[in-house]
Amino acid sequence: MIVLCANRLYTPQEEILEPLVFIEDRRITAVCSRTQREIPANATVVDLTRDFPNAILAPGYVDIHVHGGHGVDVMRAEPSDFERLNRFHASHGVTSYFATTVAAPIDETCRALERIANAIEAAESLRENNGGARAIPLGIHLEGPFLSHHRRGVHPPEYLVEPTVGIFDRLWQAARGHVRMMTIAPELAGALEVISEAARRKVCVSIGHSDASLEAARAGVHAGARHATHTFNAMRPFDHREPGILGEVLTANEISADIIADGIHVAREVVQVFLQAKGLANSVLITDATAAAGMPDGNYQLGPIQVTVKDGMCTKDGKLAGSVLTMDRAVRNITQFSVWNLRDAVRAATLNATQAAGLAQHGQLTAGAEANIVVLSPEGEVQKTIIRGGL
Ligand SMILES: [Zn+2]
Repeated sequence: MIVLCANRLYTPQEEILEPLVFIEDRRITAVCSRTQREIPANATVVDLTRDFPNAILAPGYVDIHVHGGHGVDVMRAEPSDFERLNRFHASHGVTSYFATTVAAPIDETCRALERIANAIEAAESLRENNGGARAIPLGIHLEGPFLSHHRRGVHPPEYLVEPTVGIFDRLWQAARGHVRMMTIAPELAGALEVISEAARRKVCVSIGHSDASLEAARAGVHAGARHATHTFNAMRPFDHREPGILGEVLTANEISADIIADGIHVAREVVQVFLQAKGLANSVLITDATAAAGMPDGNYQLGPIQVTVKDGMCTKDGKLAGSVLTMDRAVRNITQFSVWNLRDAVRAATLNATQAAGLAQHGQLTAGAEANIVVLSPEGEVQKTIIRGGL
């Protein structure tokens, strides 16, 4: 048994001072305050306050929208590339993530899905984190091919297709059932049928890259969509008489939504509007990180798309193409853009993401959860990342 001691802990709904975290066999068995429980004589005690006097323990960040990082694109990654990608995101506090595809030729997408499924299955069997923490790819997010031509962003138009259960099933089979999330434009012909089939397979269906009217968006939610992808970006703009998809995303309490809080994709005032609308429970942070994250300015691949990074902007033909954001920065940005404190911001990068994605045992520091933990400074700097209890 390992017992972690720190200065403070976010579960994240609760805050515990002088916390103890008991870990056995990769899982948390108990979380309490130092005064509440004796430490067993045979336990290995790790006092994090020795190296980090103000250490805050928080659930490891969960990023449900990752295209890559540190020069690696998930659609092209070989096993050794995943190693590099997983170390990179872990160094920014991420302990698990969804590898996210972009629209590409179906055959190419299927081959990418097979490779990602291999990486997911390899990570499942990984027990220890010898030689440093590696984030765990927990599933796949299909961003496309069922996207709107009007709101495709940089997804190549030639690879967008009308939704059919047949194509969805082909992708599902190639991914060996590891698809956990799918972004889809609900207004497309055939979308509602695909949404309900995906929801039946426990996929978190997320509306996005969409030009939907309010009614079409609502129909998507009724069909089983329960989330929205990078709110405001690649969506029909909000109009006060014709609110469109944003009218549904911002007002429907039964759905969560995510946002790219890099200060580039969405103005900080609009991040405030978003947080006020979706609230403490339904706001989710994503990075939408591409291979360019953590790399110098230059050209990088995003699936079949070549993107250019200059001064923190990742673009293709002048359009934003994913980001170079990391999750630790997104969390810190929230504390600067809004009145939310670090604990609230952490919640949007952890529990809210896992609840949106239907991942029990992740995103919180409670008995039964996997011991995926980030050690933060009071300013939200990552000091250490612990994955499956590996120290
Ligand atoms: Zn994306």
